[in-house]
Amino acid sequence: MMTPFLAMTLTLAAVLVANLLIKLWLNSRQVRHVAQHRAQVPAAFAHTISLDAHHKAADYTLAKARVGVMDLGLDAVTLICWTLLGGLDALNQMTLEWLGTGMTQQVALVASFTLIGGLIGLPLSLYQTFGIEQRFGFNHTTPKLWVSDMLKGLVVGMVLGLPILWLVLWLMAAGGPMWWLYTWAALVTYQLFVMWIAPNVIMPLFNKFTPLEDATLKERVTALMKRSGFTAKGFFVIDGSRRSAHSNAFFTGFGAAKRVVFFDTLLAQLNGDEMEAVLAHELGHFKHRHILKMMLTSFATSLVGLALLGWVSQKIWFYTGLGVMPNLDGNNSALALLLFMLVLPLFTFFVSPLSARRSRQFEFEADAYAVANSDGQALANALLKLYQDNASTLTPDPWYVAFYYSHPPASQRLARMSA
Ligand SMILES: [Zn+2]
Repeated sequence: MMTPFLAMTLTLAAVLVANLLIKLWLNSRQVRHVAQHRAQVPAAFAHTISLDAHHKAADYTLAKARVGVMDLGLDAVTLICWTLLGGLDALNQMTLEWLGTGMTQQVALVASFTLIGGLIGLPLSLYQTFGIEQRFGFNHTTPKLWVSDMLKGLVVGMVLGLPILWLVLWLMAAGGPMWWLYTWAALVTYQLFVMWIAPNVIMPLFNKFTPLEDATLKERVTALMKRSGFTAKGFFVIDGSRRSAHSNAFFTGFGAAKRVVFFDTLLAQLNGDEMEAVLAHELGHFKHRHILKMMLTSFATSLVGLALLGWVSQKIWFYTGLGVMPNLDGNNSALALLLFMLVLPLFTFFVSPLSARRSRQFEFEADAYAVANSDGQALANALLKLYQDNASTLTPDPWYVAFYYSHPPASQRLARMSA
């Protein structure tokens, strides 16, 4: 008979191999599909997208796919090193020798694990920004800004992350058999709190917000919001161009009163009609309660996840099967948390097409709302400009889309809108 710990090890190995095979297959499909369609602009876009822009989108997509393969390999090796090769066990022993048992060691273990993970990912992240984004003309981040972003991110992460980490580890150790329920309540509250302070406290640390000057645009957007049952609490421009040429626009604030935030890059790219149509699309997300639905789904799944963690954290095989010796004093909260976060994504990957499809469905609904409440042709023009300016491929592989795309490909969105 197979021991539970061996079963755990074999499950990890099997699921990791399945993940790698599916992801490599998807990646190679995407590369083949995009490369095959590189020579010619698809017929539906023959009059709107230039061959140069089409080539750029293909080359950008292929370059990102190559990094994707490196990323996959790195992730798999890191996972094996942490678990079966004993990395996490060694880090646990080191922090124990240094700090002894207790909350400080538990917090230090998670914090050092997170820092090491960040360091491992650093070279690839640097290559993404200063290699690929640079080569395709998207990167505006200077090395100085990059370093200052990283340091600020680290401080914000510590200030926001350490207290909640301490609370979670404390609840796990002292909360009794129902700790996972209390932890869930704490995490939900915390997440709402972060969402509430993010636009006013966190984002201004990284970006400059200036009031929007354009009175005509303000008037148009105010009218649009009134038609849709929202009030504008203020208009701001954010200096996204400091970091990247990619563009965006969004609303912040709970309830019907919202601040409107435009990326300066978007203002430079779109005219008034197009801007209004893009914001109508965003309002469509609120009108259909997409953000709320997404949040409720995430709360529900984290409840299931925590209940599962509550169960496996009691099993010796969960630790030994993943290459870690549980602590003798019985406090394994940090180990359980880290192992769980390491292996969970391998399992949830299999259901990612479901959430991706739901997200694409939401985009169609928001598009339909924008077409009904603003100018459909302007939205189509805006989408084309955005797809082109972001060098998004017009010819992605359908299977790749099914797994990874949160937004439908341009061809599908435009076809739906004109239907
Ligand atoms: Zn959307």
